[in-house]
Amino acid sequence: TAARASYVRANPKSLEAFERAAEYLPGGTTRSGLFNSPFPVFIARGQDAYIWDLDGKRYVDALSEFTAGLLGHSNPVVLGTIRQALDNGLSLGGQIEDEARFARLIVDRFPSIKKVRFTNSGTEANVSAIAAALHYTGRSKVMVFEGAYHGGSLNFPVNGPSPLNARLDLVQTPYNDVEAVRATIRRQGEKLGVVIVEPMLGAGGSIPADREFLAALREETARIGAVLIFDEIQTSRLAPNGMQGYWGITPDMTTLGKYLAGGLSIGAFGGREDIMAQFDPRKPASLVLSGTFNNNSLGMRVGAAVLSEVATEEAISQLSVRGNDLRRRLNGTLEGAGVAGQFTGFGSILAIHFVMGSLRNANDAVTSHPSLRELFYLHMLEEGIWIARRGMMALSLALSHDDLDKVESAVDSFADRWGDIL
Ligand code: PLP
Repeated sequence: TAARASYVRANPKSLEAFERAAEYLPGGTTRSGLFNSPFPVFIARGQDAYIWDLDGKRYVDALSEFTAGLLGHSNPVVLGTIRQALDNGLSLGGQIEDEARFARLIVDRFPSIKKVRFTNSGTEANVSAIAAALHYTGRSKVMVFEGAYHGGSLNFPVNGPSPLNARLDLVQTPYNDVEAVRATIRRQGEKLGVVIVEPMLGAGGSIPADREFLAALREETARIGAVLIFDEIQTSRLAPNGMQGYWGITPDMTTLGKYLAGGLSIGAFGGREDIMAQFDPRKPASLVLSGTFNNNSLGMRVGAAVLSEVATEEAISQLSVRGNDLRRRLNGTLEGAGVAGQFTGFGSILAIHFVMGSLRNANDAVTSHPSLRELFYLHMLEEGIWIARRGMMALSLALSHDDLDKVESAVDSFADRWGDIL
């Protein structure tokens, strides 16, 4: 209660902006995930690794737009490429060469992708990939995992408010449970067309998949002829060739998005030559998939620049090392202070859970008390560290050592201040 009261006192302009917004947007927002009771902080601007709220407070941006802001807020390559693209016109209504440049970089980086199609968001990439896979197999069932998040209309929380989901013929199974998936896939047999999985549960708690789990999915789907899709929309930033490269497990299809176009809206899906060939318009019975902005000139040009010049395999690899190091330090801080909690994640993505023992699926994660997570969130905001309300952080390339030290001291002061009740 005290932390909430001080939050309300610190953000009068956000409160005003929220009240105005609520007149025109349900609950004052167009992204449910950004709502925070009684009102969310409104952001005025961002630069490098920092953002400023409407009341003028500066934060170290340790969220980086839920992983999409991998490059920070004013990356010179992104800004320079946008300026160049602007000079050539925005919506050209025809094919542009940057599409293929961007696509080639994706094919070169992610082992499962032989051909690509672009979309405007990760959700769209997943919807399209699932539809393509069902069409390819001529089957109807889609396997998803408890706690999975594949987009606004493909959201499978283990508790909480109901999502507005696309209607699919679904089979849900627990994450990281090798026996359950083997049994379910065998039982479904030739009814099952698609298995879609995040190589690390994202919104479900930043919980990495075990290699054995992904390997079992690979083996069982291949046996029954179902299409295995890795949703690497978050995880492709965790290792130079995504988690498929890290584990050496190649799915049939992969979806991408988030940071891929330097913070502009983007999605992409791709995969095996024969599955993607369904979209080849030179073929008589090809699948038609259009989209006015699917090859928008800003996204295509910036995407190519991001992959070739900024989010290089080397940069991704170094950021993962920094993320792993920060996670170790933060866990050391919690342990040293006797707090019953832990940071999960992999590489540059971290999330706090107020629960001990190993966390292997979304059910384990919900045992972490929501009010403790809110307390953590409010404390981090007060200390000038911007994170997700659910306790998730994602590092950007723009964060300095000093910024990461600030994150660590904010966690330290959290443990100091609230240690008694944790
Ligand atoms: N898949 C995963 C794993 C995600 O984390 C997200 C977004 O948070 C999506 C898909 C959806 O992407 P978008 O928000 O661009 O539609």
